[in-house]
Amino acid sequence: MHKIAVLPGDGIGPEVTAAAVRVLEEAAEVYGLELSFDYFDFGGAAIDAAGEPYPEATRQGVAAADAILLGAIGGPRWDNVPREIRAETGLLALRKDQKLFANLRPARVLEGLEHLSPLKPEIARGVDVLIVRELTGGIYFGQPRGMSEAEAWNTLRYSKPEVDRVARVAFEAASKRRKKLTSVEKANVLEVGEFWRRTVEEVAKDWPGVELEHQYVDAMAMHLITHPADFDVIVTSNIFGDILSDLASVLPGSLGLLPSASLGEGTPLFEPVHGSAPDIAGQGKANPTAAILSAGMLATYALGRPEVGAAIEQAVAAALKTNPTADLGGRASTDEFTDTVLANLNG
Ligand code: ATP
Repeated sequence: MHKIAVLPGDGIGPEVTAAAVRVLEEAAEVYGLELSFDYFDFGGAAIDAAGEPYPEATRQGVAAADAILLGAIGGPRWDNVPREIRAETGLLALRKDQKLFANLRPARVLEGLEHLSPLKPEIARGVDVLIVRELTGGIYFGQPRGMSEAEAWNTLRYSKPEVDRVARVAFEAASKRRKKLTSVEKANVLEVGEFWRRTVEEVAKDWPGVELEHQYVDAMAMHLITHPADFDVIVTSNIFGDILSDLASVLPGSLGLLPSASLGEGTPLFEPVHGSAPDIAGQGKANPTAAILSAGMLATYALGRPEVGAAIEQAVAAALKTNPTADLGGRASTDEFTDTVLANLNG
């Protein structure tokens, strides 16, 4: 029995997680998985219910689970609460608590949906990249940091275990995909870049079946626009991953399509890249694709069932072609789209 902690959150979060849970329940039937779902308050919903975004009951529920399925958090209603209890502070605390050091963001342009991409169809065709971003180290956390009237400073620092463990996640992912890994840094200017490259090369010895290449981050930004289909898995530091994953996220053409996973020492977390979209919440209009694909990643990375993850992906891809939601120019409601995914999973 796999225990899944569901954190629906705010805005469209509850609608899209409900869709993802329906798909997981169906996949469990079809593929013989035993899943249990426990629901916990998180984000704005938890601020309303318990006065804080990540209450103790949620912390305990998450720690006892095998995987976390999160919807989306925040919204204008909670924008003016003090920083310590903001919805986003809850998410940072959850990631820290569970020591989630690797963030995985796939961006895929589905066959037949190339027209949604802002790139020319011939460049967008076949894009299927996975960005693995280091999430708990680097310049966003490095000490010393500070600011005076005259100057401001931050520190970029990586230890060997920090680079080693995220590189292993990336090699492992690449070994299950097209077996190509691109490591991105700035070794021509930064010592940290040279160190990153050397450490990744050491880890590569354990993955002889995966082809490794290195790119400087500035060149990588160009390649992701000019020939994105040439890349499989990309591993990089926190700040470079922040930028490159946002760059890659526009390739498929809609925010509603992008799932993510955060892996580390504790309970892995799966969530859509999009926010709580308060403008369309409660109207049955949200595209649940990102949440459903996050559930697919949950099957692959938390349950060790990549064939279930792949089946969910295929069922979604087919539904996007035949019965798309309004954000993609279609007419399906959240529930109708999900019904089509369920029918495809069964067929
Ligand atoms: P955050 O700062 O929390 O990431 P945001 O306001 O920048 O949030 P989103 O909440 O993701 O971004 O919404 C941006 C726009 O995209 C909104 O107009 C929203 O309606 C649309 N959008 C986001 N997710 C979806 C979805 N799953 N289906 C349909 N439209 C969506």
